[in-house]
Amino acid sequence: METPHCGLLIVGAGHAGSELAVAARQGGWTGRIVLLGEEAGVPYQRPPLSKAYLLGKSDVDSLALRPASAYEAANIERVQGARLVAIDRAAHRVTLADGSTLVYEKLALCTGGRPRPLVCEGIDAAHPPTNLFYLRTLADADGMRTALRPGARVVVVGGGYVGLEVAASARGQGAVVTVLEAQPRVLARVAGPEVSRFYESVHRDAGVEILTGTGLARVECEGGRIVAVQCSTGQRLEADLVVAGIGMLANIEAARDAGLVEQGGILVDELSRTADPDIVAAGDCTVQHHALYGRQLRLESVPNALEQARAAASWLCGKPKPNHSVPWFWSDQYELKLQMAGLSQGHDRCVVRGNPEARSFCAFYLLGQRVLAIDAVNRPADFMQVRRALAQTPSVDVDRLSDESIPLKDLLAGTAVVTGKP
Ligand SMILES: Cc1cc2nc3c(=O)[nH]c(=O)nc-3n(C[C@H](O)[C@H](O)[C@H](O)COP(=O)(O)OP(=O)(O)OC[C@H]3O[C@@H](n4cnc5c(N)ncnc54)[C@H](O)[C@@H]3O)c2cc1C
Repeated sequence: METPHCGLLIVGAGHAGSELAVAARQGGWTGRIVLLGEEAGVPYQRPPLSKAYLLGKSDVDSLALRPASAYEAANIERVQGARLVAIDRAAHRVTLADGSTLVYEKLALCTGGRPRPLVCEGIDAAHPPTNLFYLRTLADADGMRTALRPGARVVVVGGGYVGLEVAASARGQGAVVTVLEAQPRVLARVAGPEVSRFYESVHRDAGVEILTGTGLARVECEGGRIVAVQCSTGQRLEADLVVAGIGMLANIEAARDAGLVEQGGILVDELSRTADPDIVAAGDCTVQHHALYGRQLRLESVPNALEQARAAASWLCGKPKPNHSVPWFWSDQYELKLQMAGLSQGHDRCVVRGNPEARSFCAFYLLGQRVLAIDAVNRPADFMQVRRALAQTPSVDVDRLSDESIPLKDLLAGTAVVTGKP
């Protein structure tokens, strides 16, 4: 049988894949576009899975990135339940898990990631406990939503964004929640101590027990279910469900075998091009050389997936628009919207503007006078201003930054400096 020829074959129908398909069509790709993915259904948004959807405040239809009719209208062929396992770059051919093959002219890898598995005494990886949950897919969220009921004792392993969002949503469902965080503070990898302290107090006020400096030593199972966890501190907690939010592993096995992986991701440039002129990649599975920072970055966020997808489409359509966007992210917990822009790594000072007790403030991460990053809690206007300014490595009057009688725009206005990389 002749191998089907796909024109543009996009593998992975998540945020990046869906965007790339539509952007390529809009950008003028006239050939076939095939959007192939492992999951069933219309490509959907992941962020609500730990937020409104887990809380039961939104339904499955509201998760769709775009309606099925949008793909039809753009003549994008969707192939569901299909898994790529190998890439033959020389032959421009991919092999799927069922043994079938597809030929491409251009290939886009948008395979995202999967949860990092919890490894500890008491967990048999081949037969994981039935009440151990991860959160990446709609199926994961549905499983967790069913198990979450008022009074359920939930142990969340990992005090990062996903762990804390699950904790807030589980609390909202009336569960009794404990968060274990091995680091001395929550959000240690992504936020400064001021913001970590704020979120710890918010969660404690909401009735969540936060145990920092506390790892998971082992789990006790009965009948294939976890009944208790033993902490590194010796504390024992009974549990009805355990949620692991300990990070992500990129889905890069086929790309690695094809020689496209460096530093744990598919290496791309600002046009999302890999080392192969006929293969682009976008989203969580990539590592990008970022011109703004002069180094390779691994970003796991929706905005990054979308920007990289658009850059890839622009290149494929012969109208290259490089992605130089400032990294940004958001997290919703309780009634708080946290928005972050820039990278705080390397800051020597953090200045808070606003009042954490009033639950409305910004944390500015500074290196000397230069703003490297901002975390804004319930301050969307400030966030937008600073995010825009960050593209030009802005400096501020640090001594007046916390003075709210001076408008932020006056502190940032005309202060852009272009003295090298942050
Ligand atoms: C619970 C949760 C909450 C989040 N909250 C936020 C947030 O508030 N803000 C934010 O910016 N980001 C958030 N993120 C991160 C964000 O969802 C990801 O950065 C984004 O989904 C990345 O898009 P992607 O297209 O690269 O990967 P994905 O959306 O993961 O899509 C990849 C797709 O590829 C498929 N696939 C993988 N391997 C193969 C293969 N070999 N063959 C075929 N198909 C394959 C997968 O099944 C998947 O459907 C959250 C993530 C999670 C899990």
